[in-house]
Amino acid sequence: MQFLRDNKTFLAFLIPFLVIPWITLGDFHLLLFNFSHDRFEVLGNAIEMNTYAMIALLVILGVALTLISALSLSRFYCGTLCPNTFFAHLLTLFAQKKKSILSKIIGLSILTALASILAFSVVAYGISTDELIDAVMNLTFAGWLVITLSALMIAEVYMIQGWYCAYLCPYGATCAILPIEDRLSYEFSDPANDCTECGGCVKICPIPNLDIREGFDLRCIQCGLCEEACHKTFAKNPSITTLITRTKHPIFQSGGKGIGYLLAIVLISVFTALGTLYLTQDDRLESCRFENRPLHLSISPKSP
Ligand code: SF4
Ligand code: SF4
Repeated sequence: MQFLRDNKTFLAFLIPFLVIPWITLGDFHLLLFNFSHDRFEVLGNAIEMNTYAMIALLVILGVALTLISALSLSRFYCGTLCPNTFFAHLLTLFAQKKKSILSKIIGLSILTALASILAFSVVAYGISTDELIDAVMNLTFAGWLVITLSALMIAEVYMIQGWYCAYLCPYGATCAILPIEDRLSYEFSDPANDCTECGGCVKICPIPNLDIREGFDLRCIQCGLCEEACHKTFAKNPSITTLITRTKHPIFQSGGKGIGYLLAIVLISVFTALGTLYLTQDDRLESCRFENRPLHLSISPKSP
């Protein structure tokens, strides 16, 4: 239960993310970049688009979302909403019982199942769910994509998670480049020299060679595992809770940079809307409304 409470924000976003590809309104989906039928489906409408226009739309939306999220949430996203951090918390949960082989098997099974569901859902934004189930069963391209993505996620979580977060993640790089302030911070404070030097905070940190006690580090993904570890160290000490504390900062501080961030977010939103309109406008398309192709089915010529 504590695990669910700690990850409630992630789960609140995960559930709609998993459900949206399954929702249809009338003949079309709530949201689907339907690459197998060359159409972008949104709110039950379908707009014919070729593959390149759809990729351009995905890139525009992806870049805009990344920038808006970095400007408003910064690394709060990494610590709270990123699946990587969720998996790191999950691994910690099972590591508590690391002597039991059964708990390791259960942990690996849950992680594999979750990674596969997540990979399925990511691919399901580009092909309808029933076609994707077919593709997985028959091992066609989209099916292999789901399998490869799941395998990569599991391998990444087990082998290079912290390294990926610190050096490869495009979102982390965006946060590092932009002149933004973190909305959340973890700080070590030990005025009475209470630190037992147990090393729990360093051992549990997913980022390689990061020691929170040495001060701010740009690579910190704000997962909070060090705070939990320190809390456990002092579990039997009624006078100390933890030496590592989490501080929240207001998302948009008034004046100066706060107004600058808001202005940047408004401009990005306007340019994204214009880019989307340009890519989906009627006169660039052979036919804007899709009327001839039934949902999920390929067109087959009518027999005479
Ligand atoms: S220093 Fe703490 S909050 Fe930052 S990445 Fe390491 S464990 Fe997570
Ligand atoms: S977990 Fe707490 S007590 Fe242990 S080394 Fe880190 S700060 Fe010190």
